[in-house]
Amino acid sequence: MEFLGSGTSTGIPTVGCDCAVCRSSNPRNKRLRSSVLFRVANGDDEERRLLVDVTPDIRIQALRSGFTSIHGVLITHTHADHCHGLDDLRSLYWGGGRVPLELWAYPESLSSLKQTFAYIFDADYDYKGIVKLNAHVFDQDAFEVAGVEVLPVQVIHGGMRVAGFRIGECAYITDTNEVPPASIEKLKGVRLLILDALRRAPHPTHMSLPKALETAEKIGCERVFFTHINHDLDHEAINRELPDWARLGYDRLKVAIEDDGTISVTEPAASDSPPPIAF
Ligand SMILES: [Zn+2]
Ligand SMILES: [Zn+2]
Ligand SMILES: [Zn+2]
Repeated sequence: MEFLGSGTSTGIPTVGCDCAVCRSSNPRNKRLRSSVLFRVANGDDEERRLLVDVTPDIRIQALRSGFTSIHGVLITHTHADHCHGLDDLRSLYWGGGRVPLELWAYPESLSSLKQTFAYIFDADYDYKGIVKLNAHVFDQDAFEVAGVEVLPVQVIHGGMRVAGFRIGECAYITDTNEVPPASIEKLKGVRLLILDALRRAPHPTHMSLPKALETAEKIGCERVFFTHINHDLDHEAINRELPDWARLGYDRLKVAIEDDGTISVTEPAASDSPPPIAF
């Protein structure tokens, strides 16, 4: 999995904030809106790229990651920070040869997308400059995207449900204050987890750092990386406090389970092209 963004809904730095983290020059404190790209090996064929959420930062996220086509889009929920980049998928639609992009969401999420982006879903809207989507819904059962099995894992986000996604021994869970027992069971056997941890203090719709650690322990994963992080959490200071198996995620970090079963953590090189976006 590649972190395309690791920040809370405002992104970090937050517009108008002059706190120490928002003013920090450490690139790991610069967080675009939360999203990951699952890159799944596919034998000798092209890797399968599954984009989770389409943030308002998707354009920059795709440019700096370097991907120009994807095999599917998975939507966790339809809060603006997770789907308001939907229009910008048109570049990836063009990059994929104008084949409609496959998108999966909960039924209520798809209804919400159809309201917010009515023109994208309007079969009669005759304008070539928009993305075409092939929309599918899921609920509790696993489904396949380009040959990759995806298991949805339902979590609580205040008054709504959000979909986490498990692929093999990896899982991505954002925007949750509670992972119910049935979903903990669905996550048993996950070795590598990315999990919401907004801040230190409790929050009604997100995990605090202590709650996220406790939840990761219940799941029993070997490594956890936190995401959807706000400006309370300084990257280096928090990592010094965390146990060895837990770390804050950050933009452009890649974590994976390799063919030999080892968990790899690949930091972005300063020489990577294109360079990190400076701001
Ligand atoms: Zn969010
Ligand atoms: Zn701040
Ligand atoms: Zn949310």
